[in-house]
Amino acid sequence: MLSLCRVVRPLAFRARRCAHNPAFSHLNTVTEEDVAHFSNILAPSSVFSTIGSNSVSSNDIATYNVDWMGKYYGKATTVLRPRSTAEVSEIVKWCAKRKIGIVPQGGNTGLVGGSISLDKEIVLSLGAMSKVRSFDPVSGILVADAGCILQSLSEYVAPHNHIMPLDLGAKGSCQIGGNVSTNAGGLRLLRYGTLHGTVLGLEVVLPDGTILDQLSTLRKDNTGYDMKQLFIGAEGTLGVVTGVSILTPPAPQASHNVMLALPRYDNVLPLFQTVRRQLGEILSSFEYIDRTAYDMAIDHGHSRIFNEEELKSTQCFVLVETSGSNKEHDEQKLTELLESLLTAAKPLIVTGTLSQSAAQFASLWALREGLTEAVQKEGKPYKYDISVPIADFQRVVDVLRDQLKSRGLYGDHAVSKVMGYGHVGDGNLHINVIAKHGYAPEIEQALEPFIYEVVASLNGSVSAEHGLGSMKPHALHYSKSNVSIDWMRKIKGTFDPLNIMNPGKVLP
Ligand SMILES: Cc1cc2nc3c(=O)[nH]c(=O)nc-3n(C[C@H](O)[C@H](O)[C@H](O)COP(=O)(O)OP(=O)(O)OC[C@H]3O[C@@H](n4cnc5c(N)ncnc54)[C@H](O)[C@@H]3O)c2cc1C
Repeated sequence: MLSLCRVVRPLAFRARRCAHNPAFSHLNTVTEEDVAHFSNILAPSSVFSTIGSNSVSSNDIATYNVDWMGKYYGKATTVLRPRSTAEVSEIVKWCAKRKIGIVPQGGNTGLVGGSISLDKEIVLSLGAMSKVRSFDPVSGILVADAGCILQSLSEYVAPHNHIMPLDLGAKGSCQIGGNVSTNAGGLRLLRYGTLHGTVLGLEVVLPDGTILDQLSTLRKDNTGYDMKQLFIGAEGTLGVVTGVSILTPPAPQASHNVMLALPRYDNVLPLFQTVRRQLGEILSSFEYIDRTAYDMAIDHGHSRIFNEEELKSTQCFVLVETSGSNKEHDEQKLTELLESLLTAAKPLIVTGTLSQSAAQFASLWALREGLTEAVQKEGKPYKYDISVPIADFQRVVDVLRDQLKSRGLYGDHAVSKVMGYGHVGDGNLHINVIAKHGYAPEIEQALEPFIYEVVASLNGSVSAEHGLGSMKPHALHYSKSNVSIDWMRKIKGTFDPLNIMNPGKVLP
């Protein structure tokens, strides 16, 4: 790579059991009769239950009952893997008749406990619905089953010179239906916007089993309420997404990236302004990594990008990506930017490393994308995915660390690291608090509601992109007014009057 300096459980929380929670008391437990019915309407290989004559052991369905972080543990006795929208509809009709709760589950990579059954709900896994229904290489419109894995869809459109409008570290497991249901953001949002813009239509099985077919491939359609928007980010509380129509952009002809080392956090905002002004339309990502997160990634085997001397005066890092249609033009713009950054009277950066090959390009991204997995290897993480003004990113991380110190919880005996990284370009910071010896009530009590109060004082959002799941419904009021929450409840009541669809999630 080109160095610019030289050249230019022990205590794992069980999911809150809600045996006496009114959100679950109206629901029925799955019986042998229910399992027999599911076995009638689905193929035998689509029904997994610890109940009934063909029962499996709880170990056989264990992976459906624990989330990616190992933080939330579910209680589902029954997992169904339908293979068509019609089968989903039949399942939901029966569950509505019998008042059985349903948890839609995609790739189970969500980070807020939304895909886990909290009480006696069944898990409805979309994994067996994974066909591409159509792709138009001229318009770039892709229509796919909800269970298609994001990476498979990227690979499907790549030979046609298209890319998916979203990309995230979990792409190898997360599903397009899960992405839509969480309104996932990720690494391309700065360039291609949110799923509210790129999703053109949805097919949804409503909580009474009706199939709502709005799988439009139209870019423009102003015929009344745009209902699909309600399901984007609904986290499975309004229905089961079974099909997605999405606009895939043309693949950029040239992509470059550069990792910049900054002497202090205060330089991030002016750097963002400079980069945005100078790179204009070719800027596609602007990602922030603090020093603690960078050091952790190196400890976990990622390639060293800067030498010890350079790191002595570095407090944080920014990964900039450009995507455009003219390689020479983009390279020239990037080189001019870097020269101006390094020769400025008051340089905003210490140094930078520009990738010189596809392998180096991938290696810089691997460090950024690998942070979530590296965090997972460090201990048990408390994750706060917040939107706050960019100028306050580092202050929020520091304030949270100070809070833990003041409670005597910072150090190898409790919280070993507090770090921040995220999508600066979108104002989205991921704070990770690593509990070295596992989740513990005193740590959670020190963090919450403290962190939510800090976010509210900055007029931020308690969930920028991960959603609310079962982790944050109680914190919704920090980001939404009572009027908004009342209307959310009315919408939920209209679609799902029996409250069978992912109960206990999103709404307090
Ligand atoms: C390593 C890693 C990196 C990540 N990076 C990002 C990132 O950059 N940006 C980001 O936004 N998120 C990120 N995430 C979080 C997660 O990957 C996303 O939220 C993803 O969109 C979840 O998709 P999934 O298929 O795994 O859904 P699941 O985890 O299975 O479900 C998530 C929620 O959606 C509901 N749901 C799932 N499928 C359906 C369906 N078909 N119909 C109705 N409801 C459904 C579930 O009930 C649940 O409430 C990351 C996670 C990991 C592990």
